[in-house]
Amino acid sequence: MAKDIDMEKEKCDLTESCSGCEEETTCSSKEKEDHEEARLAQKLSHIRNKIMVMSGKGGVGKSTVSVNFAASLALQGYEVGVLDADIHGPDIPRMCGVENRPLVSHGEGLEPIKVFKGLRAMSMGLLSQDPDKAIVWRGPLKHRAIKQFLGDVNWGDLDYLVIDLPPGTGDEPLSVAHLIKNVDGAIIVTTPQDVALLDSRKAVNFSRLINIPVLGIVENMSGMVCPHCGEKIDLFKVGGGERAARELGVPFLGRIPIDPRIVISCDAGTPFVVDPEPSEVGKAFENLTQVVVRATEKAEDKITSATH
Ligand code: ADP
Repeated sequence: MAKDIDMEKEKCDLTESCSGCEEETTCSSKEKEDHEEARLAQKLSHIRNKIMVMSGKGGVGKSTVSVNFAASLALQGYEVGVLDADIHGPDIPRMCGVENRPLVSHGEGLEPIKVFKGLRAMSMGLLSQDPDKAIVWRGPLKHRAIKQFLGDVNWGDLDYLVIDLPPGTGDEPLSVAHLIKNVDGAIIVTTPQDVALLDSRKAVNFSRLINIPVLGIVENMSGMVCPHCGEKIDLFKVGGGERAARELGVPFLGRIPIDPRIVISCDAGTPFVVDPEPSEVGKAFENLTQVVVRATEKAEDKITSATH
């Protein structure tokens, strides 16, 4: 009899989640865990490159970099998804202007929301239609909810999935990084102050610990050009990110200056890089995108030549 049940389970449909399945009460937690993991792996299997954006602490512009980097890739003709894995401060829907759009489910899962041609977004923040209402997830329930949610999203074929990780280097970013598996690279966002070195060190060590190649460090809020006189002001100093990259032996991916228009574009729900007007910020993202594309293509070439 037990054998029959096992045989049945082998036929488990990976397009379906365990919750709501007839076998839910008879399967062990290990079986359900394995099923949800296999389901997530299948959903992510059509994605060429998975890039994580992380930071040693919150408020440094991690989500801003995630959205503008993803948008910049899409503007260059790539098929891109941006995944908001920062469940306590899910800002991606607002920054992409999709926060009031309803989630559509097509039998096998949730459809990411189109931001513009080539860019789609998904966030647990979209599960609650009230943007002021935080979703409170705790402990194992939180881990299960994230896993099920990630496995629910139908990304389809993508060149890049940009994952906005929760801030810091604690349990939460760790569990998301473990769930997604085979991440191709991490971009670490920092600010130029002295503490940046400490925060970046933690983030670099975190990535190395879980075997995610560090693509490099981006220094955000790096100086500011006065909108009135054009003079450059080093509001939070400059150079901390570059120094951290040098000391930690990882590439420096460039500086993004403070530009008040970023705050306006974030609040308006349009990624700043969509603005065709030439700017320092636009140039910084173009450069970041080129460096990451080159690094990921080089890594793909290596894999291709090793398998031939
Ligand atoms: P994090 O994800 O690290 O918590 P956010 O991306 O949410 O940080 O950014 C925090 C705030 O700082 C937002 O209001 C955003 O618009 C603003 N911001 C981020 N980068 C810049 C920048 N280079 N210039 C001006 N404002 C910025």
